[in-house]
Amino acid sequence: MSKTIPQPDEVSKPFWDAVDQKKLTLQYCSACDRLQYPVRPTCYDCGKSDTLTWREVAGKGHVLETMVVHDTRVVRRKVDVPFNVALISLDEAPYINFLSNLPGTPAHQGPQGAAVELFFEELEGSGGRFIHEWRVVGQ
Ligand SMILES: [Zn+2]
Repeated sequence: MSKTIPQPDEVSKPFWDAVDQKKLTLQYCSACDRLQYPVRPTCYDCGKSDTLTWREVAGKGHVLETMVVHDTRVVRRKVDVPFNVALISLDEAPYINFLSNLPGTPAHQGPQGAAVELFFEELEGSGGRFIHEWRVVGQ
């Protein structure tokens, strides 16, 4: 798929650098004992920034919901329609969600409740950059 190439900023650069090394690291707030995603400059709960560090996560999850995109304004994605968009819940922190196209699963066949695992997909035309993705491993 022709996915958008991430443009890291100062806050998200450690996240994207880890993804390029095929690791999924999330921000962890030591004051709240909580992971958070997407990346933010401060903790979602306590608002502090000096309590945030990075933690690698295992990359196991489940599909909560799926839908299929039949049309998009994103030019790079027009060649890919129709495609799945699934909401993924991370098993080790179920309040953390990701969006996935479920590569390898045909559109309209994204199974709710299925187990998924993390993998890293090389982005077309990126010069070796990667994006975190999820694939179905069981139902
Ligand atoms: Zn906090």
